[in-house]
Amino acid sequence: MKRWLILAFAGLSALITACSSPSEDEPSAVVKEEARDVEWRLHGNDWGETRFSALSRINRETISELGLSWYYDLPTKRGVEATPLMVNGTLYVSGSWSLVYALDAVTGEERWVFDPQVDKAFLAKGCCDAVNRGVAYLDGRVYVGAYDGRLIAIDAETGDKVWDVQTTDREQSYTISGAPVVAGDKIIIGNGGAELGVRGYVTAYDAATGEQAWRFYTVPGNPADGFENDVMKMAAETWTGEWWKWGGGGTAWDSLVYDAELDLVYIGVGNGSPWNQALRSPDGGDNLFLASIVALRASTGEYVWHYQTTPGETWDFTATQHIMLAEIEIDGAARKVLMQAPKNGYYYVIDRLTGQLISAEAYTDMNWSTGVDLETGRPIEAPDARLFDGKKPVLPSMGGGHNWPPMSFNPDTGLVYIPTMNFPASYKDTTDPLYAEPDQGRWNLGFDTMAAAPPKVSDKEIDAMLAATYTGTLVAWDPVAQKARWSVSTGRPSSGGTLTTAGGLVFQGAGNGHLTAYDAATGEALWSSDTQTGAMAAPITYAIDGEQYVAIAVGFGGGFGAQGGVIAHGWHVPNVSRVLVFKLGAKSQLPPLPEVDLAMPEPADKVSADAAAIDRGQMLYQRHCSYCHGDGLRTGGLNPDLRRSSRGIHKLWQEIVRDGVLSSLGMVGFADYLSEADAEAIRQYVLSEAHRVYGLENPDSER
Ligand code: CA
Repeated sequence: MKRWLILAFAGLSALITACSSPSEDEPSAVVKEEARDVEWRLHGNDWGETRFSALSRINRETISELGLSWYYDLPTKRGVEATPLMVNGTLYVSGSWSLVYALDAVTGEERWVFDPQVDKAFLAKGCCDAVNRGVAYLDGRVYVGAYDGRLIAIDAETGDKVWDVQTTDREQSYTISGAPVVAGDKIIIGNGGAELGVRGYVTAYDAATGEQAWRFYTVPGNPADGFENDVMKMAAETWTGEWWKWGGGGTAWDSLVYDAELDLVYIGVGNGSPWNQALRSPDGGDNLFLASIVALRASTGEYVWHYQTTPGETWDFTATQHIMLAEIEIDGAARKVLMQAPKNGYYYVIDRLTGQLISAEAYTDMNWSTGVDLETGRPIEAPDARLFDGKKPVLPSMGGGHNWPPMSFNPDTGLVYIPTMNFPASYKDTTDPLYAEPDQGRWNLGFDTMAAAPPKVSDKEIDAMLAATYTGTLVAWDPVAQKARWSVSTGRPSSGGTLTTAGGLVFQGAGNGHLTAYDAATGEALWSSDTQTGAMAAPITYAIDGEQYVAIAVGFGGGFGAQGGVIAHGWHVPNVSRVLVFKLGAKSQLPPLPEVDLAMPEPADKVSADAAAIDRGQMLYQRHCSYCHGDGLRTGGLNPDLRRSSRGIHKLWQEIVRDGVLSSLGMVGFADYLSEADAEAIRQYVLSEAHRVYGLENPDSER
């Protein structure tokens, strides 16, 4: 018996078909379904964002015949996180630097490429690479949020810009990586930057003209300036101190979902800025609407309800993760629910008419909380939850039990497929003025990031240690019973978004360079393909002339590729980012990857500083550089491994680090924050580490 019903929203015809058919005893339904073209028109395929497809020609029995039909090389080398859309025979994919590609969905032939010409200096204004998670489509136009804060409408036929609007202050550290959402005749977009001192908000624009319809801030501003509305006044009562000097955070950088039935838009709100609540709001408070789901009236932007997952957020526990809508039978009654697996480790089922919590259980390992009080809706914090000594392991980590890679829901199995991550983090309170002063415009967490510096052993030893403690798991979650039905290990934590189909399959990519199809009922791996680079984005499926295709955009990067060097997969070469499209019986091959020399080269200069200066250099590096170049100089492969710096780089060190001569490549100048002596101390630390690692790899060298 199916306990699940899918919403009967307009545009959900494919899903409704999935609920009633096809099945083994209704072959005619299969034929009927597959005889027509089936698009993937919305980010999550349907208004409920379930990422389920009724297509079933590729299924448990035929999956072994699935092969590469065509591929398209993206001209950029950074991370790719986009869910493609397939509308009217064209695949619309966004890549790094917010480029949009229109490709023939059958042949891969390029129809047009739109380059918004984002200033590369914006790289340092964001936390996690110049990625883009997808476009929106409405009435012959494609909408993309550009990394520099613009919302752009593009003609879907020609690729020409129709209009664009700057949605942010370019002087502040706002970026856009999320997909816009279509809400009736409006396009809604959020932004990111809560690690760099901004105040979050979402804005709705008229889809036809780009004219602003409404804006909703997610955290209150300075009370002395007056509040935008009564809701901000209410929210301000949950803050203390002078939070506005830090921006406050609460950026809505990913999940925005439009509920056409209720005229609501649900916003997933992010972490505080800075992370450390003791600095941000020193006398505590819930700090609304951090780490909350906020429901707004889509037509007006008025506040309707909110549910806060993590009151007094301090761990970077965003609630920006994928929000899914469904109708679910609970205790015999059909309930309109919203579901989310945010970073904090709980799977939430919430009544979406009222925001009332229905149930919440841990979908991953956690030690910060012992449960959720269903009366108050509040998590019960562990006694040492806010002990930040730099030693105690905290689960989930700031990366979250689940991050942006989308989950999916299959009505046939009643299961939600969640890409989860299991690894600990430690947080360290700081009294060092390097971290403590209110600041905007640069990375500032309010915690001492020395706690994240790995031990000084060989890279191989670190890899071995992390292989055991940094893992990813695909979890098949029963949201009614609130428990896992099966789970499979996916190696390192950087596993990708999921797609599930009426063929009884779950597709998922992984950072280790594979796209895998699992049996949706059991988790058995049935098929896998080498993607030659990390596959983080969610796959989609569509049908044209009865042929079913599976498409995925691949390219390692994002947060994993930047500061996530601890989970690197050895993608030291620049990525070959691509769009890969598969169909039954196809036999195309990717060209072989070039050979890569992963050995540490002989360092280009000698160490001349003493141990104290090198230690200071390490501290400064962790404070200012690690978020792009990796903790302990272990880059994820995306940005340069500074230990491999050439003689020329060492000679130009001051000009690069302080004056920003490489800002056109994204390396901005830090003269406002680092003295010449500071920059040299960082260089000496880099050199000392280069010599140490080179010596470990070359024990016979005269060093
Ligand atoms: Ca964050």
